[in-house]
Amino acid sequence: MQRNGHEGHSKHTSRWEYAPSPEPRDVLKLQPRYGLFINGEFVEPHIGRYFTTLNPATEEVLAEVAYADAEDVDRAVRAARRAYETIWSRLPGKERAKYLFRIARILQERSREFAVLESLDNGKPIRESRDVDLPLTIAHFFYYAGWADKLEYAFPGRTPRPLGVAGQIIPWNFPLLMAAWKIAPALATGNTVVLKPAETTPLTALLLCEVFQQADLPPGVVNIITGDGQTGAWLVQHPDVDKIAFTGSTEVGKLIQKAVAGTRKRLTLELGGKAAHVIFEDAAIDQAIEGIVNGIYFNQGHVCCAGSRLLVQESIAELVIRKLKRRIQLLRIGDPLDKNTDIGAINSLQQLRKIERLVEIGIQEGAEIYQSDCALPNRGYWYRPTILTKVSMAHTVAREEIFGPVLSVLTFRTPDEAVQIANNIRYGLSAGVWTNKGSKYLEFAARVKAGVVWCNTYNKFDPASPFGGYKESGFGREGGVHGLAPYVAF
Ligand code: ADP
Repeated sequence: MQRNGHEGHSKHTSRWEYAPSPEPRDVLKLQPRYGLFINGEFVEPHIGRYFTTLNPATEEVLAEVAYADAEDVDRAVRAARRAYETIWSRLPGKERAKYLFRIARILQERSREFAVLESLDNGKPIRESRDVDLPLTIAHFFYYAGWADKLEYAFPGRTPRPLGVAGQIIPWNFPLLMAAWKIAPALATGNTVVLKPAETTPLTALLLCEVFQQADLPPGVVNIITGDGQTGAWLVQHPDVDKIAFTGSTEVGKLIQKAVAGTRKRLTLELGGKAAHVIFEDAAIDQAIEGIVNGIYFNQGHVCCAGSRLLVQESIAELVIRKLKRRIQLLRIGDPLDKNTDIGAINSLQQLRKIERLVEIGIQEGAEIYQSDCALPNRGYWYRPTILTKVSMAHTVAREEIFGPVLSVLTFRTPDEAVQIANNIRYGLSAGVWTNKGSKYLEFAARVKAGVVWCNTYNKFDPASPFGGYKESGFGREGGVHGLAPYVAF
């Protein structure tokens, strides 16, 4: 078993050392303590309980955040109901659009501040928060602003009506972007919102509340309540919520589905994934290597659509694994605020322990481990980029979502076998395929049970393109015209 990779790649010869280049933190004015955002203003939680949110790269406390209990959830839902009935559902689409455009434009102006805060609270590199999360968040608000006054074209011949109050629960991997995915289509279609961010990454959603205030969004149209899973459960159970939209683990998704069964609440779930990333022997190998790295390492593997199962055609497996090993030695782990950083911190200690546990299970079950030998910071939660080879579909690491920078490599011989392995899983969120032949990727895309299939690229998003899963990855789509449907009735 080889834990650390050497093979001639000492970090001094292979990784070019740059001088540190951290993004300044002073663009941001963090409050020491945040209340709940209900009815257009920050209010104290009614039992006065607060919890802390940490910077996972340093373990420093960033701020205290209010804990919403059942009564606070009720206050937020009542504010959303009132705003729905008195203002938002009555506004013409073109008026709703103005607010969404305004939110998008303010976010553009303040994007540096949001990017820094996202990297501080989540641990992701500034390069990702600045170049991916923020541009996509903004694009999402612009995109749905464009639909708000054109809903009759989205649903020709029918008259869509809003549902009412949407309860939205999001995870920690793309905190602001997931808030945008949830809030923008809900508002465009005339619904009001109560949103609960994840307990480890509440800060960008709370900063977004300032943007709502700046945009003069009417009070109660969006309410943000912070708390833990129990807060989420209270929101799901609240009798006056008309729709639940959830992104998170399959385990919690199942609990939510049980909780809303038999009620009139509408539900969309975007859950776990274990994407097959398939490399055929005729692929452009070097580009594919970059796609693999982008798919699993650049975001610490903190993506439900991460390309975490690499399926390589047997004839090129050795070459691909050799190139990948060399490539991961060049990845820079460290300060998320440094512009040169490729891989940031793992979001929480709990998540780090989960990754470590699953990799240990992988080794016990016979996988071979190879890790970058890069130096890790002394404080904070870190995990080296890792490749597990000699993995088969019976292995836990090929079946369970790890949600870390860990790639499990499997091989196949024929296109049929690639499809079979790709589909032999309880998830069906995303997949990737690299080949020179259009016919091959079209056939693969048609046969693989995944909501998104990337061909000769990976992890590319656009607000016009729907995203969502099959099987235990959930149901319903977000993005595109499809993303409007879960928020309307006829
Ligand atoms: P992850 O594994 O990505 O942390 P979770 O599914 O545990 O995902 O959490 C995603 C979101 O769901 C978080 O905001 C969390 O607080 C919330 N949550 C956790 N448990 C429940 C529950 N039983 N009901 C509603 N929301 C929950």
